[in-house]
Amino acid sequence: MYIKIISLALLPFLAACVETTTPPAQKKAPPKPTAAKPAVVRSSQSALSAFSRVTRRMEPVAERSCREVHRNAPTKFCDFVIKIDKNPKTPPNAMQSIGKDGRPVITFNINLMRTLRNDHEFAFIFGHEAGHQIGQHLSRVRGNVTAGAILGGILAGALGASVDSGAELGSQIGFFSYAKEHELQADRIGTHITYRGGYDPIIGARSFAGRGGSNAFLSTHPPSQDRVNTVHRTAAQIRASRAKGVTPPITWK
Ligand SMILES: [Zn+2]
Repeated sequence: MYIKIISLALLPFLAACVETTTPPAQKKAPPKPTAAKPAVVRSSQSALSAFSRVTRRMEPVAERSCREVHRNAPTKFCDFVIKIDKNPKTPPNAMQSIGKDGRPVITFNINLMRTLRNDHEFAFIFGHEAGHQIGQHLSRVRGNVTAGAILGGILAGALGASVDSGAELGSQIGFFSYAKEHELQADRIGTHITYRGGYDPIIGARSFAGRGGSNAFLSTHPPSQDRVNTVHRTAAQIRASRAKGVTPPITWK
């Protein structure tokens, strides 16, 4: 049951990160005017070369930033693996996961990359995904999901319903209570890392703007404007510190 709950709960989390399209509309549902599909702006070849150019700069910065925050963590905690999903059928997305060897994995898929307009957008999304690892969001979700599942199971048992379905319901509730907060935290951390990598997080965050964040998969995204505001606020704080010659520490709460 535990495995089932985790897989159920992690699926939306992983899929939620930079979901930029809405799920396929059901047959009778009216079309949503704000659910515009992000425009493809570059070839796969151009996308792949931008990705490799940006990750060459961003990966060491993300790893250094991660180690600065998690000084006592095992080496592998901050040793990112970078992956590309070249399947042309997957909807635009990027995600952070944990590999079998325990290292954090950042995956961009080709359809997302083809919608990104400049290196700042690549850098910001990379920083955002690294931010999920630095914020330890996957392990927090897992803990919260387990607590939710146990609570859901107890509730279902008390109500005479199936414990299994109660646990699933509980795990979903546990998941949703954290998803939005985690996206904003990853944006804050991502803003720091993008700055440190020499890119502009304000331009980078435009990848979220106007893409119907509140319509995203299972509504796990906060509205785009919240995210843009968070980036602007964080960037202003970083600029103020830098003006005094100080690189501010990464904080996100
Ligand atoms: Zn995310």
